[in-house]
Amino acid sequence: MWKCSVCNFIHEGETAPDKCPKCGAPKEKFAQLDDKQVGLIQRSRLGNALLMELNGLLDAMEELALTGIEDNLDPGCVKLYEECRDFAAFARQSLKAEIQTHMDKGKWG
Ligand SMILES: [Zn+2]
Repeated sequence: MWKCSVCNFIHEGETAPDKCPKCGAPKEKFAQLDDKQVGLIQRSRLGNALLMELNGLLDAMEELALTGIEDNLDPGCVKLYEECRDFAAFARQSLKAEIQTHMDKGKWG
């Protein structure tokens, strides 16, 4: 893996690209990452993928809850759906905050 020293773009390959696809910096601006850095990037990619998948599940959960609230079968059901909707909203906020933390730390790659 190679990292652009100008914009932090990560290139995967045997050699650095001729120029950075993101910022256009020349090949010389790329530095090869060592095994430890590559490991950290792969780790954070997995972590981010998990968070994104969870985010998708929360969207689906909220959609189901809203459909259930609309369906309005009986008060017990509606209460459950409202709790699910509120939980999904709360969990999504926590998740966004966590993703933001990763981005601030430069873990998003
Ligand atoms: Zn770049």
